[in-house]
Amino acid sequence: MLDVIRRASWIVVLALACTAMLSSIAAARDAASDMVAARAAFDRNLDAIRKKDRDAYLACYLNAETLARSGPGGMLLGYEQHAQQSSDSPWPDLFEGKDLKLVPVGPGIVYGTYRYRVVYGIDEHSGLSERIFLETPAGWKIAMTSAFDAPKGTPPPPRALTGGTLWDGSGDAVVRDAVVLMRGGAIECAGSRAGCAVPDGVETMDVSGHWIVPGLIDAHVHFGQTGWADGRPDAIDVRDLFPYETVQADLRADPESRFRAYLCSGVTSVFDVGGYPWTWDLRERAENDTMAPRVAAAGPLLTTLDHWLNLPAERQFIHLSSEQAARDGVRYLAAAGTDAAKVWFIVRPENDFEALEKVVRAAASEAASRKLPMIVHATGLKEAKSALAAGARMLVHSVDDLAVDDEFLANARRNGTIYCPTLTVLRGYLRMFESAATGAPAAVDDPHGCVDARTLERVAMSARMKEKAPQLEALARIAERTKQRERVMAENLMRVHAAGIRIAMGTDAGNPLTLHGPSVHAEMEAMQAAGLTPLEVLRAATSGSAAAMGRDEDLGTLTKGKKADLIILSADPMADARNLRSIRWVVRGGEIREARELAAAAPAAPPR
Ligand SMILES: [Zn+2]
Repeated sequence: MLDVIRRASWIVVLALACTAMLSSIAAARDAASDMVAARAAFDRNLDAIRKKDRDAYLACYLNAETLARSGPGGMLLGYEQHAQQSSDSPWPDLFEGKDLKLVPVGPGIVYGTYRYRVVYGIDEHSGLSERIFLETPAGWKIAMTSAFDAPKGTPPPPRALTGGTLWDGSGDAVVRDAVVLMRGGAIECAGSRAGCAVPDGVETMDVSGHWIVPGLIDAHVHFGQTGWADGRPDAIDVRDLFPYETVQADLRADPESRFRAYLCSGVTSVFDVGGYPWTWDLRERAENDTMAPRVAAAGPLLTTLDHWLNLPAERQFIHLSSEQAARDGVRYLAAAGTDAAKVWFIVRPENDFEALEKVVRAAASEAASRKLPMIVHATGLKEAKSALAAGARMLVHSVDDLAVDDEFLANARRNGTIYCPTLTVLRGYLRMFESAATGAPAAVDDPHGCVDARTLERVAMSARMKEKAPQLEALARIAERTKQRERVMAENLMRVHAAGIRIAMGTDAGNPLTLHGPSVHAEMEAMQAAGLTPLEVLRAATSGSAAAMGRDEDLGTLTKGKKADLIILSADPMADARNLRSIRWVVRGGEIREARELAAAAPAAPPR
């Protein structure tokens, strides 16, 4: 439809332009000099937008009744109207005009297009804009202009990043003075300048002095949780202030603020490993949106513990009450097109271990017969070993009670199990309880200002929850137990790593004070503190997590054909995992944005 409108308006305008101008133009023309002149007029026009110079901007346009301006809403005629409308509209906070293309149409007439990306506050538009340039006695002027937003999923124009130090994620080596050529949202070539020539017409961006690595992937998140107690009233019950059904409705209505927080933190893909059925719908919504991380989702989780935290007509927990219930649950997930079957394997002292093991095995065999990877939350060694024996493909938490033993390691190796240590989520709970008990504000670690105001407000409310929080004695016990579990988790990570088992990076974001997006930094730093090298941390957070998502074919490295999802850092991430905080640009599906552009409050870009 847009095409039809565009074509129709183009013909109208061209006809108008021709009748208006042809009489005054000499017969013989040099097309090449027309192109140079039109290009200069094009540059003046875009510069005026960049500099927000309305006089210079309007001076680019044909001062005539025939000036045509076209967009999805139709055509608008006349210079006066154009001037009026442009003075009524605000300048964008950010303007990018790229991929300028021109073609001579006839003597003194040149047609041109460029791809725009404009940002107003947190609202971004990108698309294609056209111009028809005419030679007039007053110089080259724009006789027709249009702008049409591109449908989501339209890849940005090809771009080449040059001069940076590249770690493509496929091995240990880095390439200095590298070229990363992106086209159609994918990597066309990444390597040395000699190996990756930049074709004519592809715009380059000099990133010398910076490091280029694949985008981070958080392999353990929950979009159905907020990052505070309102999403987990089983931790601190705040339902009198924030009814759970309202919290869920809000989460469902606005995944964008979390999408943005992820991208802003350098996270270009996430794996939601348990939530309400709507979390499955995020996958398609996010895949074609370069303002969102790519999403895989496991949907409602199967649990040995009949947890009450559900909505009256929707469940996020499917109770494994029998072997039949386990098989039914897996069949439901498979029919819904899930990416995995997630199992909470939690055994309370009063439970019969063997009985619960049996239902988990039933779920595992049903998942295996449907080729669904099984993801297990099992933090006790006994449960984790049982899950591995049943064929678990991924463990989303560390074993935190005992040291993992040879049988655990052998089974994990045999299965090709991916181990996602999730080291910092317990401390998030503890920090919320401490803030509540002491009245001191809970610290927020968000180096790029990625977290939205509502979440920050709720986190700050922790300090006013004294009555609802564990009392000081209980808190001391929780703190002691957290410390103990953190020590075991760190040691187990190194045992698992030494045994050659693949590691992923995941935060369990959405749990109290494990905030969607920036919590990856603390998690990666905890992995480093446990003993992984910065490179091993980075590998876990890229190719390891891509494998966990089942997306190692197109994510996790920057080799030819992979998605162009990457981050550009101003400090060396191979020297210290903390340097992963130094994100300067985030590239998602080939679209390059500055990290500060993605901040929750979207500060206006300074003039350039
Ligand atoms: Zn989780």
